[in-house]
Amino acid sequence: MDKKVVFITGASGSMGSQVLECVMGTHKFKGLILLRDKPSNQKLAKKLSKKWGEDLEIVFGDLSVKEDCVKTVAKSDYVFHCAAIIPPISDHNPKGAEKANYWGTVNLVDAIKESPRANEIKYVHIGTVAEYGNRDWHHPWGRVGDPLVPSVYDFYAITKLRAERYVLEADLPNWVVLRQSGVLHHNLFKNNMSDGLMFHTCWNVPIEWATAHDSGILLQHIAEYDSEGTMKEGFWNRVFNIGNGETCRVTGYDTMNTGFGLMGAKAEDFFKPHWCAARNFHCFWYYDSDELNDYTNFRTETWDDYWAQMKRLNWYFALGRLAPKSLISKLAIQRLFNDTNAPMYWVNHNIEGRINAFFGSREKFEAIPREWKDYQLFRKNQIIDEEGNVVDYEYRRDIKNAKQFLLDHGYDESKPDSELDIEDMRKAAEFRGGKCLSETMVKGDLYTKLKWQCHDGHVFESSPYTILKAGHWCPECCMPSPWNFDALAKKIPFFAQVWYDTHDKDEDKFYEKDCYKDILTDEQK
Ligand SMILES: [Zn+2]
Repeated sequence: MDKKVVFITGASGSMGSQVLECVMGTHKFKGLILLRDKPSNQKLAKKLSKKWGEDLEIVFGDLSVKEDCVKTVAKSDYVFHCAAIIPPISDHNPKGAEKANYWGTVNLVDAIKESPRANEIKYVHIGTVAEYGNRDWHHPWGRVGDPLVPSVYDFYAITKLRAERYVLEADLPNWVVLRQSGVLHHNLFKNNMSDGLMFHTCWNVPIEWATAHDSGILLQHIAEYDSEGTMKEGFWNRVFNIGNGETCRVTGYDTMNTGFGLMGAKAEDFFKPHWCAARNFHCFWYYDSDELNDYTNFRTETWDDYWAQMKRLNWYFALGRLAPKSLISKLAIQRLFNDTNAPMYWVNHNIEGRINAFFGSREKFEAIPREWKDYQLFRKNQIIDEEGNVVDYEYRRDIKNAKQFLLDHGYDESKPDSELDIEDMRKAAEFRGGKCLSETMVKGDLYTKLKWQCHDGHVFESSPYTILKAGHWCPECCMPSPWNFDALAKKIPFFAQVWYDTHDKDEDKFYEKDCYKDILTDEQK
């Protein structure tokens, strides 16, 4: 039998390169990759050709050119869409992010739909945890179906949100969306030490990381299990979260503390508490990431495994052990305050919109303790809740206690999908502040589109899966930009249940369509 062809986009990136390595390493498939024609990719192409020989076909082109997608999709059995322009690059190059993340997806999906082999091609779309927006200790656990309230200024998140909706609503015969988490890859440190993005991570944010290597195995197993007919029933045409599970459920503080800890000190020795954002980030612990692992058996690495690799592979940690920590802080960390993407830059240059979005207000920023002894870390049980009780970190982190911290999806979730009917649609719409205008549906049919109306009168068609199961709502007023969640949360209980964890009820801020351009140079705009 001929080998099936796996088309991998983004093969030069941190996830795509791992996927390529894993898939090709099986010697069961032919690989196909699309690279943009530039010197670094010419070099990469030579290296990959030498390594994989005739089993790998390399095409030069661009996902934002429809013809290039049609050409490559025509030869593919699987399309693994890993390509994305991610932060910090997307923060400085929004035009490129829109092209790659949104238009690249549209072109791939359209190319599959228009192909005479559309029924045979299987499309794997990589989404992102950034689509969900900010979390803290109130609701540290999340899952597919939770509200999608992406953080203000996060242009990456909104390009991915729009792209994902396009996939969900495209009526492709075989698709799956995998929402990727923060990825632990070997250049994590190097990439983050050159941009103010590092400080967007809140100290108290719950994060479940995914490793780049295991993300590669994930897609390898999808290709293997599916082509061999051993994939369990019910995998396709759904959305999943990617996460490495229990050991990788930490906080922003743990991440900094472990990373910088490789230089023989604590996060507190390098940072001050007010240098990082207080909110407007993303990530949480996945209540449902084990489900994806049940299907694909991809987890091979733990949190400790990853950091052991980092220590082994990067010489600068050993060097860092010898240097005074205050000097590292000054030369490597505080240097980044001059970067236009750093919260301290916004504070020092009085960029009001960003201060409001990431801290609440100038006053709230000023109120953050300057010394660690006065700061309350979730990780260290230092937070006191509204009723005066200690917020117990290990208790909340235990998945056995997670159910009480889950968000409501607004319909009877105890019913199997096959039993969901028009009454569930009405309830879900009401919880989203709107209505289900369709009067009937076939019980259990989650993919035929129904008609909906939001609180503001916008009428749209979407599948029950997109709304009830994937967490999307009005494409006109609930998909930034602009970002208007203070106003939306007043009308939409589905959003309010998480929005007020980190926003005051009387906040009334509106972030214009182009607000993210404030830190761009004229050339970047
Ligand atoms: Zn609307």
